[in-house]
Amino acid sequence: MSKLEKYVDLAKSLKMVDAMLISPKDVFFDIRAILKCRWGCEDFFQNSMRCHTRDTTYQERVEMVKRYSDILLVHSHDARELSTAVLEIERRAFLDGYYFAFAIRTCNLCKSCAAEQGHPCPTPDKVRPCDQSFGIDVYKTARNLGLPCDVLQDQNGIQNRYGFVLLG
Ligand code: SF4
Repeated sequence: MSKLEKYVDLAKSLKMVDAMLISPKDVFFDIRAILKCRWGCEDFFQNSMRCHTRDTTYQERVEMVKRYSDILLVHSHDARELSTAVLEIERRAFLDGYYFAFAIRTCNLCKSCAAEQGHPCPTPDKVRPCDQSFGIDVYKTARNLGLPCDVLQDQNGIQNRYGFVLLG
């Protein structure tokens, strides 16, 4: 058993539906994800804190992900629980010696986002980048791994949210 399997167990103990260890080869990138991020997402102009790409280019962001060998893909039905869980997994991995451990997940830590309302974010150090800004095609990535990821037809549909923890 891989020594990284403990992060799968950790994710499940944090109420995640599922988690699996994958490699960068399992992550599909498509620059059209950024196209949809810039013009299809209501958040883009409202909250630079959540959407800021911090002076990195698309190519740099793809390269960053590809430098990792092991990635934990985390699946949840709850956006806030997912944001909390991936940060905790990142923290634990860092303490275990994976000093480049890093979560990629749209920030949903607060019930109501202060940054979105033009106020200072209470925990800017905990904000991680949105997968769309990295050009990750989450639909294709999840489906290719046999995980559910469908376009919701209305607000009552079950949400399938995904986060990534780049481990080492
Ligand atoms: S930590 Fe809260 S206020 Fe800051 S970006 Fe995330 S949800 Fe918004």
